[in-house]
Amino acid sequence: MTQHDHQLHEGESLTTAARERLTKEGEQWTEMRASVFDALAGFGRPASAYDIAEAVSKARGKRVAANSVYRILDLFVGANLARRVESANAYVANQHPDCLHDCIFLICDTCGQTVHIDDDTLSGGVRDAAKSAGFSAPRPVIEVRGTCGDCESS
Ligand SMILES: [Zn+2]
Ligand SMILES: [Zn+2]
Ligand SMILES: [Zn+2]
Repeated sequence: MTQHDHQLHEGESLTTAARERLTKEGEQWTEMRASVFDALAGFGRPASAYDIAEAVSKARGKRVAANSVYRILDLFVGANLARRVESANAYVANQHPDCLHDCIFLICDTCGQTVHIDDDTLSGGVRDAAKSAGFSAPRPVIEVRGTCGDCESS
């Protein structure tokens, strides 16, 4: 991963990078989309469309349907602004909207905290193994369930 300037964004810088990315895709950064992104980024752990609808409803002071949130999350995933954590059936904000990786997630079964790592050598190995089994894996899902450092030590 030394071939490019791999940047993990946080806070304000993450919102800016996400907005720029979406705009480059020819999509508008609407107020509603901004609210959904804020809520998603604010969770700090995988959040369901329902969790996010709740947070956005609270923030905007009016009811937002989980269905509309779901459509926006879908758009975000397609535009590399968010990733789906399959084993948690939930979403996280992608900290690197500028570059594509097969994000690897480590999910704590106790507290739900999720660590996001990018290791193209590892995911490349999964692709290669799939390939030698005659299987094409455009999007390998690598998720590890276990116990995070905080839960382990308490
Ligand atoms: Zn990168
Ligand atoms: Zn990643
Ligand atoms: Zn934990």
